[in-house]
Amino acid sequence: MKGKNWREYQPPRKQKKRRRRRKVRLQAKLILLLFLFVLGYVGFQLYFHYSKPYIIGLDAGHGGVDTGAVGVIREVDLTEKTTAKLAELLKADGRFRVVLSRNEGDGKSITDRNKLFQRAKPSLVLSIHANSGEDASAFGFECYPSPPGKTNYEESLVFAQYIAKEMEGAGARLRGTDGIRFGYYVPDEEGNSDKLLLDSTDTKIYDYDTFGMLKNMTCPAVLVEQCFVTNQQDVNDFGSDEGCTKAAEAYYHGICKYLESLEHGGEK
Ligand SMILES: [Zn+2]
Repeated sequence: MKGKNWREYQPPRKQKKRRRRRKVRLQAKLILLLFLFVLGYVGFQLYFHYSKPYIIGLDAGHGGVDTGAVGVIREVDLTEKTTAKLAELLKADGRFRVVLSRNEGDGKSITDRNKLFQRAKPSLVLSIHANSGEDASAFGFECYPSPPGKTNYEESLVFAQYIAKEMEGAGARLRGTDGIRFGYYVPDEEGNSDKLLLDSTDTKIYDYDTFGMLKNMTCPAVLVEQCFVTNQQDVNDFGSDEGCTKAAEAYYHGICKYLESLEHGGEK
């Protein structure tokens, strides 16, 4: 109590000085704290940037009540199994951060999945689907890069070539010239749209929309049709548990080889 009373009777000038010094000390502490916070944040970002330089956007086609095509198996089971396996391979590699467009079992619109990737700014996007035919005769693998005239067309095409080559190496039967096609939606007079699928040799620029997941993507993007769920041989090869693992491994190698080609200043 004595001290307190004594302080109260200090000359006003001394009191002012003391308060000013306390204020300066507090400000210095705050500045130091802010500096440490910024340093920590920058360090964290740099660590992530250099240790995991690539963000890979993986989209398991369909989901929720939308099961996709149904044949020997359901398309959604194939897309989720393959995506989970591919995510596992990428994470184990250590260079990649994986962004999933939706959780397993969830349903989410293509627009929302596309927007999620727009925000995440990935280095690459792979959307996984499977095909179906009217009968069991159709078979094989094909993939769709961003088509001519759209953003990242050239890079997407090269990425697609790596993916198709790896799938061929894994035993897939490539459809069309090289397993690569361009996909568009052509509007009709009733306001509906028809799918237009062209061979990769048709590099003419069309003013039609492409597939929703590939639209306005800020990075190379490819949609794969892994196999035909309506063809038993295809399902055995690339739709079964082992088949999905085989496809995931092919995509993983395709992703690595494509990115390594950029690092070595190869084709873009
Ligand atoms: Zn699909």
